[in-house]
Amino acid sequence: MDANQINAPLRNLDEWEEDVLRRYPDPQTIATSKSTDHYRNYETPVRDTVKEFYRLNHTYQTFEFVRQKEKELLAFSKAKMPIWDAFDFLNQLVDDSDPDTDLSQLQHLLQTSEAIRADGHPDWMVLTGLLHDMGKVLCLFGEPQWAVVGDTFPVGCAYSDKIVYHEFFVNNPDFSDDRYNSKYGVYSHNCGLRNVHMSWGHDEYVYHMVKDYIPEPGLYMLRYHSFYAQHRENAYDHLLDDHDRNMFKWVKLFNPYDLYSKSPQPPDWNQLRPYYEDLVAKYLPTGELKF
Ligand code: FE
Ligand code: FE
Repeated sequence: MDANQINAPLRNLDEWEEDVLRRYPDPQTIATSKSTDHYRNYETPVRDTVKEFYRLNHTYQTFEFVRQKEKELLAFSKAKMPIWDAFDFLNQLVDDSDPDTDLSQLQHLLQTSEAIRADGHPDWMVLTGLLHDMGKVLCLFGEPQWAVVGDTFPVGCAYSDKIVYHEFFVNNPDFSDDRYNSKYGVYSHNCGLRNVHMSWGHDEYVYHMVKDYIPEPGLYMLRYHSFYAQHRENAYDHLLDDHDRNMFKWVKLFNPYDLYSKSPQPPDWNQLRPYYEDLVAKYLPTGELKF
């Protein structure tokens, strides 16, 4: 296997989200193991790209890997740019080699934020929708797909069998490391998610990017929007504290806007821009983002 396949088994990042949508076809779905099997058989043959993506993700997302990425990337010393330039930068992720790629990253962000706005939610939640996938720029800094997208999960404790393709965790060194493979691992009962290290990806990165600017419920939406094993399956209740449980109502509120707002009709950015300029100015005083 060449380096490119290791870094990028997916044709584009949307392939992961299309797969999530097959797993959770409607806002109420909980993927019991039965329905997960059904989902896997639903499309034959299984999308090998997605399976290979999860094999890599589950093999390499160790506690040590996460700690190292936190140290390296949460320094935000790579770049600084006005937020509008950051959207252009993110949009480079559209894959030219895939003619079926329907929407750019910015269009997905705008469809999410516009669906939130149309339902009359607070303006900070609209902004949260607009920014939620900004962390995918990590791919443009050379991070492999399996360290940018995919379902996220706690590291440093046992991997739940509610995580998609959990069988691949046997390849992960932490799976047979006694420090990390018990139910609680390095954590304790109801210790609170603020003390838990999540697998590295675009959620954690964007949370830290804007954590001084957005109200806490929005920060939970950013930080845990790919944590399907919890917000859909409740597989890590033993690590949450009461505050997390309260805040996860917001994470659950956000998820349908992310997953089900995709439509082939692209939003008209030029028409929407004045509204979003005011919104950004209200919450991001410098109008800049650091990467
Ligand atoms: Fe996302
Ligand atoms: Fe998204």
